[in-house]
Amino acid sequence: MPELPEVEVSRLGLLPELAGRIITGAVTRTPKLRYPLPRNLGKRLTGARLANIRRRAKYLLFDIDHLSGDRTATLILHLGMSGSLRIVTPDTPPQIHDHVDIAFGDKVLRLRDPRRFGALLWHDNTTPIEDHPLINVLGVEPLEDLFDGAWLHGHLRKRSGPIKPVLMDSHMVVGIGNIYAAESLFLSGISPLRSAQKISAARCDTLADAVKQTLSAAVAAGGSSVRDYVHSDGGAGCFQLQCAVYERAGEPCLGCGKPVRKIRQAGRSTFYCPNCQK
Ligand SMILES: [Zn+2]
Repeated sequence: MPELPEVEVSRLGLLPELAGRIITGAVTRTPKLRYPLPRNLGKRLTGARLANIRRRAKYLLFDIDHLSGDRTATLILHLGMSGSLRIVTPDTPPQIHDHVDIAFGDKVLRLRDPRRFGALLWHDNTTPIEDHPLINVLGVEPLEDLFDGAWLHGHLRKRSGPIKPVLMDSHMVVGIGNIYAAESLFLSGISPLRSAQKISAARCDTLADAVKQTLSAAVAAGGSSVRDYVHSDGGAGCFQLQCAVYERAGEPCLGCGKPVRKIRQAGRSTFYCPNCQK
């Protein structure tokens, strides 16, 4: 499943190629993915301009302007379990799972999604995008300044249960998937089993820094490999990162050499070093 860093890498790869360009056509080849696709997408978009591509959690927000009547709109795109975006030339034949094309003259943005859990939604901007039901339930962005140790400490104090599932709660903070929760907790030396509300302010500083460092490193690692193929099919394992604990059960901890342990928490696998993480 594409995680936040993959989505951010996709955004960074698409921006210089497409931002500011006029849309010359659009095609949908299936009536729905997770939700029905916008109808008449080609008619709506042709002649409009892609002003910007923003990201909120794992949603890409395509800001569209110069629509007829000088209106604006936002296309909300989610890659679901298996979605990926590519930039291809207009003569590239679509493959079986290529469901949407948005054309920009000599470049076509193509959405591939074999499992069809992705989403592409039209928002007409008569209400703020922040109020959209898919967006207004999202917690703070981990790479933004608001998310820091003090913020985290204030929120963890109100939470019961072990830290790892709490850290992965997207209503609190978005984008800390299973890999990044495990790696951030290892980097900060905090056990995934530790009670969230008992983590000190100083350790929350360390944890918030570790989250930012882990996600930023993944974005940086992916960013160097992006060209015309905008990778986002994720797969198992780490996103171009060498993981310290994730998927390394039984292997020696990179810190102390003792075996990495795998447990289940809230239905997910957790990897950690009982010796280094307290
Ligand atoms: Zn260790």
